[in-house]
Amino acid sequence: MIDMRGYFTHRAYPCVVDKFKKSFDESQLNCDDYWFSFTDLQRKISNNKCPICEVELSGYPNKTNTATLDHFKPKAQNMYPQLKCEPKNYILMCSLCNSTYKEDKFPLLDERPLLFNPTEEDPLDFFELAFRYSGQGGILELKRESNISKGSYTYKRCEAMIKMFGLGYCDKDIHPNDEVKKCRIDILTKHYGMFIELAKARSSKKSLAHFFKDKNRVNELKKYGFFRFIMKEQFSIN
Ligand SMILES: [Zn+2]
Repeated sequence: MIDMRGYFTHRAYPCVVDKFKKSFDESQLNCDDYWFSFTDLQRKISNNKCPICEVELSGYPNKTNTATLDHFKPKAQNMYPQLKCEPKNYILMCSLCNSTYKEDKFPLLDERPLLFNPTEEDPLDFFELAFRYSGQGGILELKRESNISKGSYTYKRCEAMIKMFGLGYCDKDIHPNDEVKKCRIDILTKHYGMFIELAKARSSKKSLAHFFKDKNRVNELKKYGFFRFIMKEQFSIN
């Protein structure tokens, strides 16, 4: 998951908001054709990855990885229609995360949101990475950060987020739970292949120094949220 907290403080943000607000009538909430004006800046902050599943985004419509803007709090009439044109409620996602996994869901626990918003909070406080073998080969899953106490609000938020987006608990024999959406095996396998060597090299200064000699490769990996997790040693290899 990608830390998007630089978005609201980015120097271009106020200009984009200003232009957006001038394009429609706020009393009518008719902003449908304009909220996409926030996509480019969010793509810049996320290095053109989906902040949630970290797939590379495409600007052209296709089935899985088109850059879209999600209304974090759904704009559906029975939910948060008043936030339809609120810029702080827009979050970049790939079309699969947005339309197939999250849809119009916004689970609450005692009126507090369960979903994690990467424009407001640091993913490192919530998650860690697990490199492991599943029936289909190596996968890179998200897990709860191990210091989070069991049953706490934060614990439940991590679980809700990972399960909603199919980014972990893929082995239902170990984690029997019907709430887990179909796991994103394709993406998780690809990410495993990209990051396992860095994760293995992280264990010794010498091997890490050797890995860092390939500057092009390192610069490519730095564009992902996974890079921060590995450098902070927030991962396990099983
Ligand atoms: Zn995604």
